[in-house]
Amino acid sequence: MSTQPRLVEVRQNVLKQNDLLARSLRERFREAGVRVVSLVSSPGSGKTALLEKMLTLLQSQYHVAALVGDLATENDAARLARSGAAVRQISTGTICHLDAQMIERALEEWKLDELDLLFIENVGNLVCPSSYDLGEDLRLVLLSVTEGEDKPLKYPTIFNTADVCVITKMDLADAVEFEATAAHNNIQSVRPGMGVFEVSAKTGAGMDELLRFLSARIAKSEEV
Ligand code: MG
Ligand code: ZN
Repeated sequence: MSTQPRLVEVRQNVLKQNDLLARSLRERFREAGVRVVSLVSSPGSGKTALLEKMLTLLQSQYHVAALVGDLATENDAARLARSGAAVRQISTGTICHLDAQMIERALEEWKLDELDLLFIENVGNLVCPSSYDLGEDLRLVLLSVTEGEDKPLKYPTIFNTADVCVITKMDLADAVEFEATAAHNNIQSVRPGMGVFEVSAKTGAGMDELLRFLSARIAKSEEV
């Protein structure tokens, strides 16, 4: 696997203002030794539920924090704060995605070198987040079993610019007659070789595997 985040690899020839700021954020994160993981998906795919589970499970081992983007409300931040992690809400108003400047502002007064891992939950949207680098090391795209196996075919760009796919709400797979093979085939057809995890934040199924993968990524950054 390339050491560059997939989004950077794809966008390296179309550098815009946001990319330059994202590049400096990435450098800041690297110097502070904090690994940054972002989550993108449609609204209602379970980003906050997955994040709450990850924050709770990772708390004992790492210093974790999260930034969470929504058009309005602080509900997700309040929910995530229950995990005990440092959490800050970014209210974007009418803007349907996060950009690097919002991340930079939200990080003011935070001591990055005290963190091991920072999660960024994007606004629920499968379209424009694919054009905005946030300085993250790893981008997870979520696909819930309730939203249809053909999502990757309908929104290929977001899948193609993410590093890893996480299929969520696996506890509902049977009830909604989720066709795992079709979903996997569709993911591989838009992004060949993409790593895919199947999880249920509710039952905890598959979480070990996903967290082992993230921990390995964190350990790798500490060697640098
Ligand atoms: Mg949310
Ligand atoms: Zn947008």
